[in-house]
Amino acid sequence: MKILQQQSKNSWASIIFLLLRNDSAMRSVSFKDFSLKESLLKAIADSGFEHPSEVQQECIPKTAYGDDILAQSKSGMGKTAIYVLGILNRMEEEPLTETGPQAIVLTHTRELAFQAAKEFVRFGKYLPKIKTYVIYGGISIEDQKKKLKEDQPHILIGTPGRMATLVKNKSLVLDKVKYFVIDECDQMLKETGIHLYIIIDIREDVQYVFCRTPRNKQVMMLSATLPKELREICKKFLRVNAFEVFIDNEAKLTLHGLKQFLVKLEEKEKNRKLVELLDNTQFVQVIIFVNSTVRAKLLSSLLRQHNFPAVAMHGDLRQEERLIRYKQFKECKTVIMISTDIFGRGVDIDKIDFVINYDLPRDSDTYMHRVGRAGRFGTKGLAVSFVATKEDEELMGKVQERFEIKVPVYPDKPDTAVLSTCL
Ligand code: AMP
Repeated sequence: MKILQQQSKNSWASIIFLLLRNDSAMRSVSFKDFSLKESLLKAIADSGFEHPSEVQQECIPKTAYGDDILAQSKSGMGKTAIYVLGILNRMEEEPLTETGPQAIVLTHTRELAFQAAKEFVRFGKYLPKIKTYVIYGGISIEDQKKKLKEDQPHILIGTPGRMATLVKNKSLVLDKVKYFVIDECDQMLKETGIHLYIIIDIREDVQYVFCRTPRNKQVMMLSATLPKELREICKKFLRVNAFEVFIDNEAKLTLHGLKQFLVKLEEKEKNRKLVELLDNTQFVQVIIFVNSTVRAKLLSSLLRQHNFPAVAMHGDLRQEERLIRYKQFKECKTVIMISTDIFGRGVDIDKIDFVINYDLPRDSDTYMHRVGRAGRFGTKGLAVSFVATKEDEELMGKVQERFEIKVPVYPDKPDTAVLSTCL
């Protein structure tokens, strides 16, 4: 990982950290080196975190001190803790407001909002006065308005569309905001998305919400993928002396605990191969990616007919049902999840050790995010991708070239010794 720019004003923690920055010191860095408040260090210890990851070592001294950051880090290496610890550390020093949130966190899916909120609760365990609340679309806005009127949270986490609606109808006032997070920032600032034939401009909502907050605030933007053309757009949200971490050598985005394979087949052979893989592989939880809601529904019912306890996750589900399914998967009550790209990014379920691309995505960023659902925080995992078309072949060629990896053909009779190194 290369630090391209590092111009921020230094806290004592940053200075000490920079003096220590050589390879052996990097390995021995502990959370105690970041001048975090005692309450946070206790919560970190309770979580069982022993050492900060490389990107945490780079960024937590910055966020905890109040600096803006734009951080790229490989999937599953603890991005969330960077902004959660930073915000909580800052908030512990200041009086809590009762008239509007001090921190806003924008996430691109509802499940990610929920996941981030849990991290605030986990690390805020010894800060009981700090209130966190999650808002997202797909459920009644009236309850959210009532909550915001009667019991203002200090930290508000949500998806941009619902957040913008609440600001527009004046149920949410953002003039007390001091901390602003845009998670998966490349996804959030992409021009437009299409869902059910409706054009959705997430960026417009993000900008709308951002512009309703005070000018002077700490902004934190993070993602595993950060295309060069988007970096300039991201920088427009940041103060001039923001700390930036980019991974310019994309080979460094590869997860080392993750073994990746491909299976060349025809479209009509996919179901048979899938059943064979599920039957012959020992895994704890598997996520199977498909490219449409219709395919998610069809495949999950087909697998259930074959007595595989599969559950589908897609955008057609009611929000309540989506959350129930997410929680059951997170708690390992569901073993096989068929999903569209709703779960392709950010979702952190530590027991997922097997990813199957039943359909390959159309771009290598999405591939990288999808397979990164396994092998989180250095754990082992297996990813198998079905290659059925010329476009699929091109995509796998691009993936191998870009991330400098070899994705071999999955053996018909996989050697158990090979598999035991992945699962
Ligand atoms: P994230 O990239 O934020 O989704 O985090 C991926 C996973 O790594 C989550 O399950 C975190 O709880 C876990 N994690 C984050 N930081 C650490 C750490 N320093 N030590 C151990 N686990 C961590």
